[in-house]
Amino acid sequence: MMVGKEKAKAVIVGGSIAGISTAHALISAGWDVILIEKTSAPPTGSPTGAGLGLDPLSQQIIQSWLPLPHFLHNTTLPLTIDQNQATDSEKKISKTLTRDECFNFRAAHWADLHGLLYNALPPSVFLWGHLFLSFHVVDFKGSITTKVKVLKTGEVINIVGDLLVAADGCLSSVRQKYLPDFKLRYSGYCAWRGVLDFSKIADSDTITGIRKAYPELGKCLYFDLGSGTHAVFYELLNKKLNWIWYVNQPEPQVKGTSVTMKVSGDMIEKMYQEAEKVWIPELVKVMRETKEPFLNFIYDSDPLKKIYWDSVVLVGDAAHPTTPHCLRSTNMSILDASVLGKCLEKWGVEKLESALEEYESIRLPVTSKQVLHARWLGRIKQGLVLPQRDPFNPKSATPDECQELLQRNTPFFQ
Ligand SMILES: Cc1cc2nc3c(=O)[nH]c(=O)nc-3n(C[C@H](O)[C@H](O)[C@H](O)COP(=O)(O)OP(=O)(O)OC[C@H]3O[C@@H](n4cnc5c(N)ncnc54)[C@H](O)[C@@H]3O)c2cc1C
Repeated sequence: MMVGKEKAKAVIVGGSIAGISTAHALISAGWDVILIEKTSAPPTGSPTGAGLGLDPLSQQIIQSWLPLPHFLHNTTLPLTIDQNQATDSEKKISKTLTRDECFNFRAAHWADLHGLLYNALPPSVFLWGHLFLSFHVVDFKGSITTKVKVLKTGEVINIVGDLLVAADGCLSSVRQKYLPDFKLRYSGYCAWRGVLDFSKIADSDTITGIRKAYPELGKCLYFDLGSGTHAVFYELLNKKLNWIWYVNQPEPQVKGTSVTMKVSGDMIEKMYQEAEKVWIPELVKVMRETKEPFLNFIYDSDPLKKIYWDSVVLVGDAAHPTTPHCLRSTNMSILDASVLGKCLEKWGVEKLESALEEYESIRLPVTSKQVLHARWLGRIKQGLVLPQRDPFNPKSATPDECQELLQRNTPFFQ
């Protein structure tokens, strides 16, 4: 509890985008923050992660957290066009299905965005190499004790705070305490992903060819729809191309708790061979020249009924695991953090329950609709069975059906 002039203190579990955003928002709200992350050190450079799209509101919020707002523009590229096109696998030609030229997103590399947010916080906020183990709530108005393992030494320490924020991702172990039966839902498909660094091959045939086939790279978010499959393609800052290819397949027997799978050389070669059957040669060339493509199995969950209990609150993927089709994951995390900060600032630690109740009442209806819309859009784009209608076929879809593909139809789209 806050005594005299002592600040309220939040313990945040998870140092990815949701955790780091929450640290910003809570510090802005006048709270002390300590962030626990099991990774041994802050991620550096671009091997970590791939591309993501930031919506206008997230851009505005991030800028408010940075020492100089233009840092964000210097780290991202514009995505001013949202385009869906159909690729004919046999003829290897594409036709435009929809085009929205008022799309106001920006493209970032995960590691660049993470670095930007991280460098704008005091290093003393972070406990790297610390694994969250468990917590104990004393009472609603009282403190919360978090047990944490220092991975380097094996020592277990207690950290006390007024609020515990679970920013520990879609497999959240904090959430587990309140929802022991919670399960993720497999979408029916996985995503091959990669980032081609073309800084040393900018004049190569691969890059000339891809720029000819996708002339608006650098400002366009391309969705390519094939038969029962789709790919996403856009440029990132510093001469990088980001691609994602969704492939329908049964749920894998993933060992451990990760939804990202290690891939063998054989799996990658098989993926290239399949890509040759579906995509234009220019795109396959980009895939082939990408170092270390990786595989994500796509999961989400039915919307949760609650996202806070006692003095424990969920943010980011812990609060709403989602499929990526509406570019919401990162944006929802940033918005969660910002709204939580505003609610805590408004009500103060003395009225923590009112703050958390208001946070939930603002965020839960929005994120629930967005998660379900993303699920539905993914099923459309993958040509999967939909309730009370035929699967979407990009070759024969009517203009009205094609309109459904647009990002701007996402509920609460800004
Ligand atoms: C390394 C990394 C790279 C990513 N790259 C991309 C990308 O390129 N494009 C994209 O769209 N999305 C990417 N994501 C996912 C993206 O960050 C999230 O989907 C979204 O931003 C919501 O993030 P989150 O912070 O809620 O969850 P996550 O990003 O899943 O982060 C959860 C964090 O909690 C930590 N954690 C979990 N359990 C514990 C524990 N017991 N103790 C301590 N720490 C714990 C994890 O190590 C992780 O850092 C990436 C995530 C990570 C972790």
